[in-house]
Amino acid sequence: MSRTASCAITTLDSIKRSLVGLRMPCALEVLDATVRRIEQGEIDGLAALDVILAEELTLRENRRVKTALLVARLTTIKTLSGFDFAFQPLLDRERVLALAELTFIDRAEVVHLLGPPGTGKSHLAIALAVEAVKAGRSVVFSTLADLVTSLPKAERDGSLRERIRYLCRASLLVVDEIGYLPVVPGGGNLFFQLVNARYERGAMILTSNRGFAEWGEVFGDPVVATALLDRLLHHAMVIQIEGASYRLRQHADLVPEHVRSKALIVPPPAPKRRGHPPGKAASDHTTG
Ligand code: ADP
Ligand code: MG
Repeated sequence: MSRTASCAITTLDSIKRSLVGLRMPCALEVLDATVRRIEQGEIDGLAALDVILAEELTLRENRRVKTALLVARLTTIKTLSGFDFAFQPLLDRERVLALAELTFIDRAEVVHLLGPPGTGKSHLAIALAVEAVKAGRSVVFSTLADLVTSLPKAERDGSLRERIRYLCRASLLVVDEIGYLPVVPGGGNLFFQLVNARYERGAMILTSNRGFAEWGEVFGDPVVATALLDRLLHHAMVIQIEGASYRLRQHADLVPEHVRSKALIVPPPAPKRRGHPPGKAASDHTTG
């Protein structure tokens, strides 16, 4: 073995030891193959360094996102690219995609996604939450039913303040399924405490199949509902999805008439012009 070759091996061993010490398993894994590419003249040293570091960074980034998704309790993953906007032609695609830029989080705004069941409210809420996690924002996802069960439990345990503080630390709180289940007595009050604590401090995405006028019924208390809406409609954006149920799209003929009349099964016709400003169906309501 020539002196230069043995020198190179020593250097390679030293690099490997450093990578082990630095806990960079991915870089270590691609090192030998990358060195071979240098020897074959495929890439130069600088490009090799780039390949090795990028490999490690990708691994770390994936690991970070995976952990953050678990912490956020985002167990079902949905993406914006997986959302078929053509199925909801009345929904303003550009407006939804603009939300993915996450400036609403910086402004601590509230985004309401309203519409009948199956129209993709949870899908879009989760997809935006996933974008936020990827961008390094802290997120917590919960259904309203889980919140109004866990908050009274925390109150009984004497840990309510801590629980609310935890839920306030997240830069984005998603509350899914407002209106599906009746809120247990006292639950609305505690939810109000949470909303009030986050008011103008942290962003929220809320999804509901019920109009705001029905919140008194949803929360079993018109006073609480009014106080909630007071906070939740200030600095808010309302996106109304008035389309067909994606869940029922293949079974339109099997669905009873009274269900069909509540949520159109057949998607409405596409708007005439692409990129046309939203009509009544996807109305903007930005206050503040
Ligand atoms: P909602 O929360 O409005 O009741 P979901 O978001 O849970 O509805 O949607 C129901 C199912 O249909 C989910 O699996 C979701 O991913 C899917 N879905 C809904 N709308 C679309 C769409 N436009 N494109 C792709 N998948 C959709
Ligand atoms: Mg849903």
